[in-house]
Formats: sequence, structure tokens, C-alpha cells
Amino acid sequence: MTFFNELKNYDWDEIKSFIYSRSESDVERAINLNSLSIEDFATLLSPAAEKFLEPLAVRANRITTQRFGKTIKIYIPMYVSNECVNSCVYCGFNVHNKFKRKTLTIEEVSRELEVIKKTGIRHLLICSGEHPKKVSVDYLSEVVKLVRKNGFSSIILEVQPLDENEYRLLYNFGVDSLTLYQETYNKKTYAEVHLGGKKTDFRYRLEAVERAANAGLRTIGIAALMGLEDFRVEEFFVGIHARYLMKTYWKTHVTVSFPRIRDAEGHFKPKHIITDKNLVQSMLALRLFLHDVGLVVSTREPAHLRDKLIYLGVTQMSAGSKTNPGGYAAGEEEGKQFEVEDTRSAEEFIQSVKMKGFDPVLKDWDSSFIDAI
Ligand code: SF4
Repeated sequence: MTFFNELKNYDWDEIKSFIYSRSESDVERAINLNSLSIEDFATLLSPAAEKFLEPLAVRANRITTQRFGKTIKIYIPMYVSNECVNSCVYCGFNVHNKFKRKTLTIEEVSRELEVIKKTGIRHLLICSGEHPKKVSVDYLSEVVKLVRKNGFSSIILEVQPLDENEYRLLYNFGVDSLTLYQETYNKKTYAEVHLGGKKTDFRYRLEAVERAANAGLRTIGIAALMGLEDFRVEEFFVGIHARYLMKTYWKTHVTVSFPRIRDAEGHFKPKHIITDKNLVQSMLALRLFLHDVGLVVSTREPAHLRDKLIYLGVTQMSAGSKTNPGGYAAGEEEGKQFEVEDTRSAEEFIQSVKMKGFDPVLKDWDSSFIDAI
């Protein structure tokens, strides 16, 4: 039994009709509840709830401060490869896009780490396109070992979905977290935007976070790519997926991101435009639904918005990001997955978090298992 089976209990169109049928009085009732049912969560995602973003924000802020304190965990991405065998229509790394592809050598990874280390951030997100031959488990193992040697305390993977034994191997080398976006929970849309490669397998992707949790990883992160579908319905599915994971894998921390499609990604024009207000509503509804879920916002979002979101329930943010292999040490400008919107340096961002009265957490834990290797 996995979330794939659970998903069969929900019909996309029925959920959509329900969300769009909610009234303002339904919203007023749901806002003040301590514990939200899935119907209440759907209500907070409805058009009727848009008028209530202020009281929602007050509740979200209070819950987040109670559960997480005034802290923001900071992480930084390192792209090791922009090679990919898949053809996702919304992504610049799509196998059909022509540009100079690159997978970093171990020496080049080492040079990237030297630069990244200077930021003081010790949570590293290892990103790549999905190319199982170029970015194999053996390659990732070497990268992870090197990252650990360089003193990073938390290693998060954002690469192709793997088998459970592969996650276990990487866990033993020091990977503690996995981020894997399902992109969309609408199977029809999923098939329309994933035209080739292993990513066409909806189920294998959906169950990857569960394989990672079974392998022992301490944090799993999920998301939908906002813009592929109606965000109200999509974020409902993200929410019930997160809730399922939190209940089933209670030893594992669950996080949710809110990535919006950026124009630069393969010049793809999203079917649905997601406004700042839409993003904020999604985040607030999720915080009221799941008090302990981690909420993540990356540098895809502009500085002025990220500065506001800090007060609305976010718990993790990236800083100083480059989205191409070699972006830090070699100053490469080519081969980015998308253009970042918040272009502040890591130091500038950390300072701005402090100035808002929040504690930027650059290192939040230390593992000991890896020392035995
Ligand atoms: S979204 Fe991921 S799998 Fe799809 S083309 Fe981009 S890098 Fe490859």
C-alpha cells in the first residue's frame, strides 16, 4: 500500500467542483479550527478564501512560530549535471534542447565546494538532470563522499528517482534528505507534459519518496510544479500526499515546496498563470492543514516576495543559488535550468533574514554514522 493506491480514492473533477463550490461562510468556519479536515483544507484553497488571506496569514504565522520558532533553514544548490534523457516540455534541460551539456568531474565538484563553503551554509542540495548513465549511483556516491569530507552536515538529493537499495547506499554515504517533485498529480496532464524517458512512469516517480523513507532518509520533500494545472486542485493533492507521508512515515520529516514555472525553462508557456496571491494562498492553506510540515521557497521567487513569505510560514529557503553545473567556481553562465529571480548573494540574504528578527540556520544537525566510513 502506497500513496499511489490512496490516490485512487480521489477524483480530480469532483475535488475541483467541491473547491469551487465553497462559500465565504465555509471559509470563516474553517479558519478558526484547530484541526482541519480535508474538506476544510479544500475550502481554504477555494476562490472564496481569497478574501481572507490576512486572517489566514495571522494564523499561519502563529502556528509556524509555535512549531519552528523564528528560524529559517538555509540551503544552497549545487548542480552537478545538466544532462537529461527525459523530455519534459516545461524544462530547459529537456533532451531535445540544444546547448552545451556538462557533468562535473570530481575535481570540478571539489572546486564548486570550495566556493560554496565560503558562504558558511552547510545544507547542500545536489541537483542534476536525469541521466542515469552520466549521473549514476556510483558517480553520486563519489560526489556525496566528497561533500561529506568538505564538512557539509546535510546533503539533500534532487536527482532522478532511484530504487530503495540505491537510496540506502547513498544514505550510508551521508545523504539525509530527498527532494522530488511529482510536477502534477493529474495523470492526464502528467502524460501530456512528460513525453519521453523514464519520467513517463507516474507511479515510479510518485513512490520514490516512500522508497527513500524506507531506506532511512530523515527528510523527504514534495511539490507540484505550479502552472501545469489549476493550482487549487493541484495543491489539494500536494496536501493530501504530504499528510499521507507524515502519517505513514512518522519518523521522517516532510517538506513541501512551491515552485512556479519560470519563462526561461525551455520557453514553455504555462497553461495556468500563478500569481503571487495564488502562491501565498496555497502556502497558508497548507500551514493551517499541516502544522508540522516544512515549507520551502527557493530563489525562483523574487527578493521582494521572499522577504514577505518569511512571515507567512516558510521554514526553509535557498540562497545565493546558481542553477548550472560550474556556476560557482568556473563562473559558467550557460546551461542553466532556469533563471533565479532572487539574485542576492548568500551573505546578503542571510543578513536580510537576521534583520527581520529571524535566525538563519546554516547548520542544524550533525550525523555521526558517516564517520565510520
Ligand atoms: S524536469 Fe528534470 S527530468 Fe525533466 S527535462 Fe528537466 S531535468 Fe530532465
